[in-house]
Amino acid sequence: MVRMYTHLKVLSANISINTGTYKVIADGNFISESAGELAYKLIYKNDSIEVISSDKKIGIYKYIKFIAENNPAAELKIKLINPDRKPRVYPQNMIFSTFESTIKIINDVEVDRYVAGVTEAEAGSRSNQEFYKVQAVLARTFALAHINKHVLEGFSLCDQVHCQVYYGKPRDASITTAVEATKGQVVVDDGLNLIIAAFHSNSGGQTANSEDVWGAKTTYLKSVTDSFSVKMPNSNWQRKMLTEDWLTYLRLKHGYPTTDPLARDIALNFKQNERKTYLEASNIKVPLKFVRQDLQLKSTFFSIKPLNNDSVLFMGRGYGHGLGMCQEGAMRMSKQGYSYEQILHFYYKDIQIIDMKKLSFFKDE
Ligand SMILES: [Zn+2]
Repeated sequence: MVRMYTHLKVLSANISINTGTYKVIADGNFISESAGELAYKLIYKNDSIEVISSDKKIGIYKYIKFIAENNPAAELKIKLINPDRKPRVYPQNMIFSTFESTIKIINDVEVDRYVAGVTEAEAGSRSNQEFYKVQAVLARTFALAHINKHVLEGFSLCDQVHCQVYYGKPRDASITTAVEATKGQVVVDDGLNLIIAAFHSNSGGQTANSEDVWGAKTTYLKSVTDSFSVKMPNSNWQRKMLTEDWLTYLRLKHGYPTTDPLARDIALNFKQNERKTYLEASNIKVPLKFVRQDLQLKSTFFSIKPLNNDSVLFMGRGYGHGLGMCQEGAMRMSKQGYSYEQILHFYYKDIQIIDMKKLSFFKDE
């Protein structure tokens, strides 16, 4: 149960059948059984939904279900009218109800159909099979670990970054193939717990430890040297800043002793050959994760040098929090012939890739 368009106030939408036959049930009443061209318009009205088909008003309901009939390929096309959005195709069942002055749209979809949509949203649509497999296993692991994230709101996951981005059926059919090839597979730690499936764009040559980023230690989010991520699009970044602004930030936000010549020198010539967690001087520790957040830097993995009299240059490596799988590194590994299992074992330590059915078996014991 995934809620669609979670971030939008949906007031009207067109629903049409893309593939298969659908039964339409509204407030428990059978409305129609249709295939092919038949389209419905749904309009929000006073905490209910008006249903129109072929310019004819069918009725006003609270709860409308489109149920796919015995066809795994069944798909609906949804075109939002207000607000206006491009059409999207969603597999399997759809449920429409109202919530806080909007039409609430839920895709009742099997895990792997959902995983295929997430894989495309996260991995893009021009990659290769092994990389898709990596993203698919991680998307499935995340979905299972968070299946109750929105349970109090009546669904499992939302379609936004808060859970995982999901736009429905992937356009690239090879993604579906990759998902099927990893059917049911999830990543667990040495205690058979689903891992926190963290990943990021580029590690800059070294991934991070979870305790240095989130404060919590894990057995699998461990720093690794990652030569696969260098010389990729997001390997390096630079940012110029006024020296005065940098020092003022450190002083006001972190109580950093910028008048102390030694501390000032450390701040203006900060070096990271390996990832550090803090910028430190005279017992003051400035967490780099806050520096990244406050200054909106691409990563915490940066060095600084004075550029001229009044400015400094931040020379950064990588993009993202640095935890777990590095997407650009994994993409290169997959092109060099590493399997998705090898890639997952490289970026996550002491893990196992297992069938999720086995997981519930062990957990029940
Ligand atoms: Zn969510």
